[in-house]
Amino acid sequence: MKKFLPLGVLFLLCTMGVHAQKKKNDVIKDLDSKSEKYSEIAHEIWDLAEMGYLEEQSSALLQETLSDAGFSIDKGIAGIPTAFKAEYGSGYPVIAILGEYDALPGLSQEAVPEKKSAGGAAGHACGHHLFGTASTAAAISVKNWMETNNIKGTIRFYGCPAEEGGSGKVYMVREGVFDDVDVALHWHPGSANAASAGAALANKSAKFRFYGVSAHAAGAPEKGRSALDGVEAMNVMVNMMREHVPEDARIHYVITNGGKAPNVVPDFAEVYYYARHNTRDVVVDMFDRMVKAAEGAAMGTGTTMEYEMIGGTHELLPNLTVQKIMYDNLVKVGGVTYNDEEKAFAEKISETLGKGAPDIATAETIQPYKETAQAYGSTDVGDVSYTVPTAGLGTATWVPGTPAHSWQAVAAGGMTIGSKGMMVAAKTLALTAMDIFESPKTVEAAKKELEERRGKDFKYVPMLGNRPPALDYRN
Ligand SMILES: [Zn+2]
Repeated sequence: MKKFLPLGVLFLLCTMGVHAQKKKNDVIKDLDSKSEKYSEIAHEIWDLAEMGYLEEQSSALLQETLSDAGFSIDKGIAGIPTAFKAEYGSGYPVIAILGEYDALPGLSQEAVPEKKSAGGAAGHACGHHLFGTASTAAAISVKNWMETNNIKGTIRFYGCPAEEGGSGKVYMVREGVFDDVDVALHWHPGSANAASAGAALANKSAKFRFYGVSAHAAGAPEKGRSALDGVEAMNVMVNMMREHVPEDARIHYVITNGGKAPNVVPDFAEVYYYARHNTRDVVVDMFDRMVKAAEGAAMGTGTTMEYEMIGGTHELLPNLTVQKIMYDNLVKVGGVTYNDEEKAFAEKISETLGKGAPDIATAETIQPYKETAQAYGSTDVGDVSYTVPTAGLGTATWVPGTPAHSWQAVAAGGMTIGSKGMMVAAKTLALTAMDIFESPKTVEAAKKELEERRGKDFKYVPMLGNRPPALDYRN
């Protein structure tokens, strides 16, 4: 049966709607007025290009920005010097916005539309300089809105180091730093604007180290035992294993030390492995089999082996309750519009992306909402998403079609295309946080959804075990 609302209620609802829209427009305006300041901060972090757990200056810059805006800072959390928490307000609800700031080794690049190294050791090929800055901007604008409108609750920014292979957030989750958070929001730089339910592969990574006996490779080979043989024997077995794992599993490795000279039997060799799948039980099983292969390789080659866990993350658990709100806000904010200079830059980059690169005009559009997504990479946000209802988005900080971890990503991220995409994320995060602050029902529904999705018997077990943070994994 259809019911009609009394006119008075209808009027009240309409004015409430108008009022909410105005507040949102005010926050958008506030962010627009500071876009230059935030693009300078992002650019400074882009220039620094500090790698995982080495992000001292990048982390300090964001801390300073948040502290100047009235946040209290708790740094060095979870035993990680570059991890921190910034907070404003008190009590329920606690809304967290996640930020990252680590760069990738070997991807130094100038902000030009052709491949040209900037001569550095690393580059922001995953756009984490934008990630940390947009999240900071969002947290500050939410704080300003809370202050002006007397909103109760806590807004928190989490400075999360070493996402790229260092699993920074896993140690933070393990340490319980998210335990009192009600909803967590995140985003990621990308080549399209989308706020669909995300997906990411669970992951386990380790360095396998083999120890042999060195000897003159020609004069006394019988006295030697090659550590490189151990690595190679392990690789052969793991490569055979590929046929007997689920089709959508991923295994990759690099030999990080294979000896120094052909005429010396290497007494040390090391191989660095990743195992991934969208179900963490499969990853655990594959990883255990890889360890067996390493043990067998050591036995057969007369070497010894030990391994060190480096990273391990859960798959991403979407929270549709929050995700849909985020999508609506992204639609309200809109995509990225290029000026002539940006258009010319984007066209040049687009030419380097090969056939099938989408039209650069897609940067202006929002991808349709989807509840299922194909996972390609892994993220330590996965562990947060099993602890707290979590939702995220991606924005076009890169030219459409640009893959992550490429020189094209560093280039666009270092100029205004990156900053424009970053502000789309900052606004969407801020508006979504506002909606959640104003709707306790959403918080409860999101929590209920999390409990249902992860199951009654869920117990958080970090994939990387109980090792201390791998602070030197980039050294
Ligand atoms: Zn990333």
